[in-house]
Amino acid sequence: MWAKIPLSYLNSLGNNMAILRSNIRAKDFVGLNKICSHFLRRAIEAWLDGMKIATVDDVGTTQICHQNIWNNILIRYKNRPLFIPRWIQKGITSLGDLFQNDQWLSYNEVREIIGHSGGLLFEYNAIMNAIPLAWKTNGAEQISEPPNPDFHGKTISTWTSSFVRNKLTAIRYRQPGVINFWANKYPGLEISPRIWEVAFKCTKETRLRVLHFKIVHNIYPTKILLQKMGLADSSNCSYCNTRDYMEHFFYHCLTVRNLWTHIECKLSTFIGAPLELYERDIIFGITTGYNSRIRNCLNAYILVGKLCISKYKYGQYHDLLLLFQNEINMRKLKFQSEADD
Ligand SMILES: [Zn+2]
Repeated sequence: MWAKIPLSYLNSLGNNMAILRSNIRAKDFVGLNKICSHFLRRAIEAWLDGMKIATVDDVGTTQICHQNIWNNILIRYKNRPLFIPRWIQKGITSLGDLFQNDQWLSYNEVREIIGHSGGLLFEYNAIMNAIPLAWKTNGAEQISEPPNPDFHGKTISTWTSSFVRNKLTAIRYRQPGVINFWANKYPGLEISPRIWEVAFKCTKETRLRVLHFKIVHNIYPTKILLQKMGLADSSNCSYCNTRDYMEHFFYHCLTVRNLWTHIECKLSTFIGAPLELYERDIIFGITTGYNSRIRNCLNAYILVGKLCISKYKYGQYHDLLLLFQNEINMRKLKFQSEADD
């Protein structure tokens, strides 16, 4: 019985679950508000937004009869898809319903099905005009079985919940705007998932993960952001009086150069080869080269370095190197003993 409730809702938009074979985006679908179940409506919206929009040429001649008349992007009158509930109530859903004995139903034949009413002739003409010419001349003979509704190339019977979930997630994905921001700043840099994952791979510490998140999403509050928020008088670095871009704050600023030289020195000893940290390595972490264990160690060091810079610039600390040493000791980062002599 419960399965029948959604079916009765769906049938008000066309019988045989015609809506599942629809080819129109949810926002253009007329009559969706007839479905009073919020859940079902959202499900249908997600479904519609995942459908492939076909063209007239994509529809084979044997499939013409199964094309929905209502809410079909290819059947439009004055550029709008059609939706006439009383035709649906009388069982007219697909083009096959209008094509019998090798020809399209005449107005009089339709009137016998729908019943006489004032606007019927207008509706009949609107529909017949809206049917694409190629389909009208081919006719819509009932040749084959109606296709099973499919979603991203898979018919209903073969779905798994993870398949649907993955497809819906993919549809909803929007590229973060910050990707263009970094691509402009660092031409040639690949903003790969590895960059987002750096902090999740190298530390379990929420504070460090949040810091990484803010930096890579360009929402870490340097003086530029603080000024925009009305929390600082100037957008320049308090130490160097140059504009406080992210890369200045963490890398170029005179007050932090010593720290990075110190860290380079320690990390070079650890990996047994000279290591130079570039601006990108410090902003995003190291995402290529080395094995993952070493990369994670390097990135943990770099993140702690950035945390110290943040604390030093906005806190009450007098010695950045000492602060860094304390933070490292507190965390007992793996190669501490090897890097320390
Ligand atoms: Zn500075």
